[in-house]
Amino acid sequence: MKTCDLHTHTTASDGSDTPKELIFKAVEAGLSAIAVTDHDTTKGLPEAEAAAKETSMEFIPGVELSVNFTKGNMHMLGYLMDVSNGRFREVLERVQAARAERNPKILALLEGLGMPVSMKELEELSQGGQIGRPHIARAMVKKGYVKSVSEAFEKFLKRGARAYAPKSILSPEEAIEVIRGAGGVPVLAHPFSLLTRDEAELFYIVSGLADSGLMGMECYYSEHDEAFTSMCLGIARRLGLVVTGGSDYHGKAKPHIMLGRGRGGLVVPYSCVEALLAAKANA
Ligand code: AMP
Ligand code: ZN
Ligand code: FE
Ligand code: FE
Repeated sequence: MKTCDLHTHTTASDGSDTPKELIFKAVEAGLSAIAVTDHDTTKGLPEAEAAAKETSMEFIPGVELSVNFTKGNMHMLGYLMDVSNGRFREVLERVQAARAERNPKILALLEGLGMPVSMKELEELSQGGQIGRPHIARAMVKKGYVKSVSEAFEKFLKRGARAYAPKSILSPEEAIEVIRGAGGVPVLAHPFSLLTRDEAELFYIVSGLADSGLMGMECYYSEHDEAFTSMCLGIARRLGLVVTGGSDYHGKAKPHIMLGRGRGGLVVPYSCVEALLAAKANA
């Protein structure tokens, strides 16, 4: 069976593999297609696309936008956009500026807690890519303030924790609109992170997004168990949404997640790619 991975990160955001390395690892993993979906940036796409051209790997350009949501975390994946679209670029720049303003705020809070980290240390860790909380967490581990990245998030960096500063400035509706405006396909990422109580609440939220133009739902995902996956598949079917899936591979930044395989059991059928391409053609 042909398989794919439609959710991955590179050094352009908080992954540890360069776009080129990622493509070669996807070939080694036996995948037929891969999407690069860095947080709020498309900077890694040209290198990934060029590397894919040297192989038989089918490449899908993507992005993962962080959007406002009161309860858990909502991320909106966008696929197959024209990344040079003016409004799309403008929104990415706005989001990137908000991120750049947020990092010093987090560092000031950490300094106040007696755990100084400098911008220079973060820049070294991010290798020129966009800096996010995972880089700050890694710097905290390196400096011996915490034992692990997850301890850094739990104690200091997660929403509501002592060194947290908010980032999202984009509404889900705006993200959907800007992705579609650039000819892309908006897909709700990892629905488990919305922390909904039950199927009815998830259905309510996703159907609202579908009314706003959402076209797909990431049903196959590393952190989804079988029951949650089938619940997502059911909701996607009821709402006529494209089904997608991915591992959320970050390389060493999330060492327990393997490309195409998640925690080991994930399989994303190639039909997800065909459905995305069909959705784009019909949009
Ligand atoms: P940011 O983009 O700066 O808001 O950071 C989001 C990134 O942090 C995503 O890649 C998440 O996977 C990662 N992240 C969020 N919570 C945790 C956690 N508890 N442990 C490790 N990584 C996390
Ligand atoms: Zn990430
Ligand atoms: Fe995400
Ligand atoms: Fe992700």
